[in-house]
Amino acid sequence: MNRRYRKTVIAGNWKMNMTATETKKFAEDLKKIMPRAKWCDTLICVPACNISTAMKAFKDLRISVGAENVYFEEKGAYTGEVSADMLKDLGVKYVIVGHSERRHTVAAESNELIAEKAKVALANGVKVILCIGELLEDRESGKTMEVCKAQLQAVVDAVEEKDWENIVIAYEPVWAIGTGKTATPDVAEETHSQIRAFMASAVSPAVAENVRIIYGGSVSTKNCKDLMAKEDIDGFLVGGASLKPDFVDIINC
Ligand code: PEP
Repeated sequence: MNRRYRKTVIAGNWKMNMTATETKKFAEDLKKIMPRAKWCDTLICVPACNISTAMKAFKDLRISVGAENVYFEEKGAYTGEVSADMLKDLGVKYVIVGHSERRHTVAAESNELIAEKAKVALANGVKVILCIGELLEDRESGKTMEVCKAQLQAVVDAVEEKDWENIVIAYEPVWAIGTGKTATPDVAEETHSQIRAFMASAVSPAVAENVRIIYGGSVSTKNCKDLMAKEDIDGFLVGGASLKPDFVDIINC
């Protein structure tokens, strides 16, 4: 399928940044330069405590609000955790699972745990942004696709074919996140097309054609156009650059 049939996704990931007050101010600043995002699925994933504030603040901008994390159990004695049902009840459309910071930095989340999180989110009607990506040493030792395939296979095993309609794959090479070292458009495209080929064999050719694969890793106003021109890049997951009003330029590109 030609890329233009897959709707572009531009997602921000605010991580542990922005208070509720700053969220409102950011939305006001955005409104001055971009009254409404209408060309693509645009969302910003915010800390759980700011979801309600962000929902109100971004409503007129047509920016959806996503969550940055979800727990894998439905409910119970899990102090401090947030369930998929709670996110759904707030009106959250997407949740990030498998971000490299949760796989490698703040928690040692396994491929299987991440698959459980994806499953519970989908069962509760929350779409999933599934982050995958290799560490620098994996790339240097030629293991990029081995790592990405293992991360994807855990989710392939946990969900049904129809669930892939509600999953966006975010390819984020860990060495490019927050480092300023973006994968070149050719390097990113090579991995995106290999991921699509893997999805064709692991799930089905139809899923491979339709699933949106977005790129993340130091996306900026400077590199977004060249990355977006690639056939298998269907949008972006943006960290640092989504915290500034010129995030609008990435949406517009
Ligand atoms: C991210 O956190 O998912 C990310 C891609 O961050 P950055 O854009 O800052 O590299």
